[in-house]
Amino acid sequence: MTGRGRTRRTGGRTRGREPPTEPPPQDGGDVEETPARTPEPGFPHPPRERGIYCNRTLNLRSIRAIGYDMDYTLIHYRVEEWELRAFEHLRRKLTERGWPVTQLRFDPAQVIRGLILDTELGNVVKANRFGYVKRAAHGTRLLDFERQRDAYARVQVDLAERRYVFLNTLFTISEACMYAQLVDLLDAGRLPAVLGYADLYRQVRASLDEAHVEGELKAEILADPDRFVESDPEAGIALLDQRRAGKKLLLITNSDWDYTRALMAYAFDRHLPTGLTWRDLFHLVIVAARKPEFFEEDAPAFEVAENTGLVKPVRRLSEEGVYLGGNAGLVEEALGASGEQILYVGDHLFSDVHVSKNVVRWRTALILRELEQELAALESARAQQDQLAGLMQDKERLEFDQAQIRVAIQRKRGGYGPAPTASVGALERRANDIRARLAELDERIAPLAEESATTSNARWGLLMRTGNDKSYLARQVERYADTYTSRVSNFLYQTPFVYLRSPRGSLPHDPDYVIVEREEE
Ligand SMILES: [Mg+2]
Repeated sequence: MTGRGRTRRTGGRTRGREPPTEPPPQDGGDVEETPARTPEPGFPHPPRERGIYCNRTLNLRSIRAIGYDMDYTLIHYRVEEWELRAFEHLRRKLTERGWPVTQLRFDPAQVIRGLILDTELGNVVKANRFGYVKRAAHGTRLLDFERQRDAYARVQVDLAERRYVFLNTLFTISEACMYAQLVDLLDAGRLPAVLGYADLYRQVRASLDEAHVEGELKAEILADPDRFVESDPEAGIALLDQRRAGKKLLLITNSDWDYTRALMAYAFDRHLPTGLTWRDLFHLVIVAARKPEFFEEDAPAFEVAENTGLVKPVRRLSEEGVYLGGNAGLVEEALGASGEQILYVGDHLFSDVHVSKNVVRWRTALILRELEQELAALESARAQQDQLAGLMQDKERLEFDQAQIRVAIQRKRGGYGPAPTASVGALERRANDIRARLAELDERIAPLAEESATTSNARWGLLMRTGNDKSYLARQVERYADTYTSRVSNFLYQTPFVYLRSPRGSLPHDPDYVIVEREEE
């Protein structure tokens, strides 16, 4: 299972279509061997969807401590179950307020991580890496090209503006789905107590906070973890590999001790060697960490008695123990390690990755579970992609010729510059022929282009692409996540000794994906 002993370049541009494989072992015979190189069998490599992709070179051997977030990082929830329940809890709270929401239904495909709520206009938008909006829905309805252009032609999304809410984690899916449907109700005049789209968002947030929806949900999860948690038998061994390789392992979660203890035991203990529990994996455990403030402020720490949950204030952390609160500075002090010696692994683009990178300069790994679906979708779209790329090549060649002919006619008529010997009439006939061929090509391209724009998600397309460009999410990932991968157990394949090198290219995982964007005449 593990690929110990050999490292490979992950995240680099893999030119081949197949998952990379080791060269077959040579069997001597005709092959002339040099004495310095002894042929040896290779170890299996993980499939692409289980790769670790690298924006900034990371040598795991030089990392002394690895910190992990828990929710949606060490523990993966079944999104459709968890977010469905979150949606239902929110709907109940809004019903109690007298809102007509009983007919609303959760649709997990309606929004994806990385989209942005524009609370000024009641829209859900997908922007490219520059912040230009490339696809937008008002409430639940996609905007047509003209309406989208009217709304966003002069707008560049800047998350520093209060009107925008970035969907940072999978936890935001239900809330965004609810918001979009409520915008429809507001437009229909059915929410008289709401003063506009921004007020609508404020009221939804307030309902979530007041209602302690998360607390209620967590109680449901503890009562029936099989329903909500998708456990990963390999994650514990990956962590054990790291611990035995001499890394200090940390768990830093915003969840409370009782929840953390129960969920970690459920998800990890049965997959560990006999006699070990999840606590044997971690040196330091910090609960109720209040990230992102954990990385930015000097909050006090409390030691937690593991059995009773009772707490007492402490000035320092020891290298082993369970604490509540505290801050990144206390962790660094306890470990005698800082900045680039610590890797933090989490799923929240802002709290786990952006802030830890910007403020304390820890190295970062983003857990992006959707990458598995994204890469599978890319793989299954490959035949259409090749066809589309070929047609676009033909189109560009014809367009080039068309432009040459137009300028030749212009020069012949104007009596200037170099021009071919053919008559204007002959050139015009050729231009007409090219025009007809282009029209025919466009008819073949249109359905394939539409299909490529809806790869992975029928409404929003790929997570990391907006048209042919990187998405806003991809840009955030590139800026703040040194590495990204679909799940923690992918470290099992790469071992604690891997040297992850960043590729020369711009986006590591899909170097030749083609999307044809809508164009203005
Ligand atoms: Mg999390």
